[in-house]
Amino acid sequence: MKRREFCRTTLAASVAAAYPFMMNAALAQTSVAAVSLDGGEIELEKAAIREFAQQLNGPLLMPGDDQYDYARRVWNGMHDRRPALIARCANTEDVRQAVAFAADRQLLLSVRGGGHSWPGKSVCDGGLMLDLATMNTVTADPATRRAYAQGGALLNGLDTAALQHGLVTTAGVVSHTGVGGFTLGGGFGRLNRKYGLTIDNLVSAELVTADGELRTVSAEQNEDLFWAIRGGGGNFGVATKFEYQLHPFDRNVLSGMILWSIDQAREVLDFYGEWYAGLSDDLYIGPAMFTMPDGTSVIAMEVVYAGDPAAGEKELAPLRKIGRPMDDSVKIQDYMVMQTQEDGTWGHGVRSYAKNGMVKEITPALIDALIESFVPDPRFAFFTHTSGGAVGRVDELATAFPHRNAETMIAVIGGWMDPAQDDESMAIARAWFKQLQPFVGGYYDNIDFDGANSKGRNYGPAYDRLSVIKAQYDPGNLFRLNRNIKPAV
Ligand SMILES: Cc1cc2nc3c(=O)[nH]c(=O)nc-3n(C[C@H](O)[C@H](O)[C@H](O)COP(=O)(O)OP(=O)(O)OC[C@H]3O[C@@H](n4cnc5c(N)ncnc54)[C@H](O)[C@@H]3O)c2cc1C
Repeated sequence: MKRREFCRTTLAASVAAAYPFMMNAALAQTSVAAVSLDGGEIELEKAAIREFAQQLNGPLLMPGDDQYDYARRVWNGMHDRRPALIARCANTEDVRQAVAFAADRQLLLSVRGGGHSWPGKSVCDGGLMLDLATMNTVTADPATRRAYAQGGALLNGLDTAALQHGLVTTAGVVSHTGVGGFTLGGGFGRLNRKYGLTIDNLVSAELVTADGELRTVSAEQNEDLFWAIRGGGGNFGVATKFEYQLHPFDRNVLSGMILWSIDQAREVLDFYGEWYAGLSDDLYIGPAMFTMPDGTSVIAMEVVYAGDPAAGEKELAPLRKIGRPMDDSVKIQDYMVMQTQEDGTWGHGVRSYAKNGMVKEITPALIDALIESFVPDPRFAFFTHTSGGAVGRVDELATAFPHRNAETMIAVIGGWMDPAQDDESMAIARAWFKQLQPFVGGYYDNIDFDGANSKGRNYGPAYDRLSVIKAQYDPGNLFRLNRNIKPAV
């Protein structure tokens, strides 16, 4: 390796390791070492840092500060990074100041919404972490059927604010996930067959772009940016506010889980493979295979019926005749029971790996692969996010999320606590998914640990336009800690 490359690749780690020392000696120094956008070393003048801190309404944290270790922590316990500075933004003006501070100095910048990125893109070594965690208010307006969420809000806030008024929009399946990364990447949830992806319900957003400007993006204003942020991730700026379309919704929904022992997987999957194509948009149902802590392996069907429960019972009836279910908890219950039931299993600090792919058709060969690849280990699970319905009725290039013709997303997800198991666990999950790889076309960036290396291929036919818009609004690639889109030359 050339010396220069070596310096770049090792710099972030060495700067991070040096911080405790640097803070001890801080009073004697006039500057702080940090990492630039391209991975080189830069010095941040202490006077400039002080001035920056004074301009902010929220706190600016550095190593050694009380809240620093708490603020740098993200959901996936695999990522232990140490930013040079953490700007805990209190409002949009703080976001503008933080973007300008990083842009002026070519300082590496990460943007944290809810902190749930699998590859940990929201925290960086040696750069500025722009933290939106306290900008987390959500309001809903029943008159206009709209919800307004700040960029650091969580899905729980979105569901709660909307449901209070008998309204809802598509939100994901773990309620402590952030609306920021979730929305900008697409947004799959239990209502997507009926109401589409979350981006299909996005009416507008407020975005601080790399030049520090605050722009409203919608179908009427900055249409190119509005198109790009619906699937293009955090590439185009910091979203400080999202506006969502809401739909009338009775929160008492027919929902729950049906479980069979894993030896009935073929019977259940064979039936599902014949049945799923004719299902109504109201029915969200997809298979999962996992092993419970007591060692019992199961195949499960998660059910949410977003319509008249009596019609749901009727539509579900054929499935309930399959095999001998071990448990059937499907009943009329509050929508939030399902929306929060996995919050603990996937709690903060778990070390986690995820890989997924989009599947157009559930074929007999895929069913064989699902059964043969299954690993009976409680650390891993096979999940699906059922798609189709309203998701598939949106044109491939109407938004920057092109994977519209998939009927389902299949995913292998692992979770463990012991760092010593990292390599082994990732190898197991990768080997499992490798057997499913031949059946997928593209993947969903948001539920993927490795995809950062895909060099834009996964954006498919949307990539060229994304790259042109990137060049217009972020020519220096300030917003690069995401599934990065290179500015067109
Ligand atoms: C337990 C769990 C369950 C999940 N369930 C689902 C699900 O049901 N459906 C689904 O579609 N996805 C799901 N996901 C994936 C989720 O959508 C992504 O992890 C998403 O990136 C999380 O957003 P965040 O704001 O919490 O993450 P962060 O780590 O904060 O950010 C992720 C990326 O988005 C950028 N970003 C975040 N907020 C902003 C903002 N306001 N402005 C600009 N850029 C921003 C960050 O810079 C980073 O690049 C789940 C993830 C986890 C960990």
